[in-house]
Amino acid sequence: MKKIILDYGKCAHCGLCANVCPEVFGWDAKSSEPFLKNKSKKEQGRASGETDNPCAEEAARLCPVAAIEIANLKKK
Ligand code: SF4
Repeated sequence: MKKIILDYGKCAHCGLCANVCPEVFGWDAKSSEPFLKNKSKKEQGRASGETDNPCAEEAARLCPVAAIEIANLKKK
């Protein structure tokens, strides 16, 4: 499982992440913002959650402004 962080301060609202990885990223058409679909919490301009879907890493790699971070979670 990996930790995923979406930084709204950097996001350019292009919608690419929701297209590349719709299992993990949704798109709020009203605010033109992406969101994390599962078990995410949003605070201080960042949303964070967990995923094991490899397309999240693809979205992070392709995000034009590097607004998505993926990190390995330490095993408990
Ligand atoms: S790909 Fe990056 S810039 Fe585009 S909507 Fe997603 S987080 Fe924002």
